[in-house]
Amino acid sequence: MMRRVLLAANWKMFKTVPAALAFGRELLRRYDVDHFSAIDVMIFPTALALWPLSQRFAGSPIQIGAQNLDLGTEGALTGALSGYLLREAGAEYVLVGHSERRQHFGEDDELVATKVQAAISAHLHPILCVGETAEEREREETLAIMRRQIGAVLPGLGSQDAIKLTVAYEPVWAIGSGKVPTAQDANRAAAAIRHQLGERFSPELADRIRILYGGSVSPKNVREFIEAPDIDGALVGGASLNLETMVAMMESLAH
Ligand code: PEP
Repeated sequence: MMRRVLLAANWKMFKTVPAALAFGRELLRRYDVDHFSAIDVMIFPTALALWPLSQRFAGSPIQIGAQNLDLGTEGALTGALSGYLLREAGAEYVLVGHSERRQHFGEDDELVATKVQAAISAHLHPILCVGETAEEREREETLAIMRRQIGAVLPGLGSQDAIKLTVAYEPVWAIGSGKVPTAQDANRAAAAIRHQLGERFSPELADRIRILYGGSVSPKNVREFIEAPDIDGALVGGASLNLETMVAMMESLAH
């Protein structure tokens, strides 16, 4: 089963709407459709920039996603953004359970599982983020932690839902730290995730689900991760904010 390589840019709480649009304009100018035909490129801007950026990328292969969603559709929920609203604003994908959401916004496995279902109900493709902390890694609990994080989500999903899922393995200690696991270690985690998906659904279905690596990915190391057999792409924070490093990563994956 050929899984297309995905480069996903998580801009977090960076870039004003004009800055996001300027980046989008330059990215399109540098985006040679034939040259980059083998990879999928996805941008996760702030919710404010979703609509204008989706308009800018209309008719191009570059896709847009949201960094988070709240539960519900519409209602008296001051400050909340539902999957429905994000979808109507141009998002096709949504990050769920990013470690910064778990850490700073108190999202637990149960809420993450509910959000994955809410994303699917809103016709968004969820990218479920999982990964261990430094302490958990020291205690050699990496695989057990991921098994718990993924195990919380899978019972609520049918096969039709699972096809829409992407999983991102993001060791918390590697995010924004400049530290990375070896490609071999990252692949071991990705293979364990695929095995768990296979147990819940079928090995054939698990073979179709993309698994990304995230954590201090840069133009220097992205290729190494992507060459690992169970890693199908990268979720990139810091290095995706700069156009030159973003294009350098795309170049590195394009051939
Ligand atoms: C992320 O936020 O998902 C991430 C991996 O960040 P960074 O690339 O900056 O480590």
